[in-house]
Amino acid sequence: MSRKPFIAGNWKMNLTIAEGVELAKAVAAVANDAPTVDVAVCPTFVSVAKVADAVKSTALMVGAQDTFWETKGAWTRQIAPNMLADAGCQWVIVGHSETRGRFGGLSEEVQAKLAEVPGYFGESDKSVNMKAKAIFAAGLLPIIACGELPSEYEAGKTDEVVAGQIRADIAGFTEEQAMKMVIAYEPVWAIGTGNTCDPQTADKVCGVIRNTVKEVYGEKVAEAVRIQYGGSVKPGNAKELLSMPNIDGALVGGAALKAADFAGIIEAAK
Ligand code: PEP
Repeated sequence: MSRKPFIAGNWKMNLTIAEGVELAKAVAAVANDAPTVDVAVCPTFVSVAKVADAVKSTALMVGAQDTFWETKGAWTRQIAPNMLADAGCQWVIVGHSETRGRFGGLSEEVQAKLAEVPGYFGESDKSVNMKAKAIFAAGLLPIIACGELPSEYEAGKTDEVVAGQIRADIAGFTEEQAMKMVIAYEPVWAIGTGNTCDPQTADKVCGVIRNTVKEVYGEKVAEAVRIQYGGSVKPGNAKELLSMPNIDGALVGGAALKAADFAGIIEAAK
């Protein structure tokens, strides 16, 4: 089955509203010229509505970087999926390693500080699963991120860790929802570090993810589901990564912040 490549930019905690709108307009022009590729940008919560408004008649889609599983109420700090839909989002990233408290490209000093904060961001497979269900219920689609820590990679536990995360993260969806979910394999040691996972290894792990989806939802869903690779994707390495049979797109951090770099990655996906 052919799966439409999906390139998504995670802007993280970067760009003012005006800068986000400007970048999104530039990316939208590239997305309009790439009808064979799905393209999305995921701005900060405060920029989502303005960015979505600026690109609403273009091919560029907009996502958020997280959400909560409730729809309203006394939940200080939280944003509900229906609010993101109202702001013009179509996608929501859940389970990013930076919200799970599994950090890659930070200095040891910063990681040690964060480790002292109990439950920092507090994301677990259970909360990822609850959020994904709430995202579907609001008519949005999740990009479910998973990936192993450097220590797990070095101990040869990548396949086991990633399959375990995915089994828990995707439990209890309908078949229709499972067909539409997107999974992003992001080895934590490759995020923001410049250390890209080599394409063969990334493809092998994406294959493990596809097999896990097959165990849970069967062959039809496993063949339909799109699996992105994320971790220091750049215009120079995108083509090789995206040519691998189990890699259907990219979740891009740093290189999504410059229109020319992000355009190079979209070009590589054509
Ligand atoms: C990410 O944060 O999802 C990511 C892949 O970041 P980068 O591309 O900067 O490694």
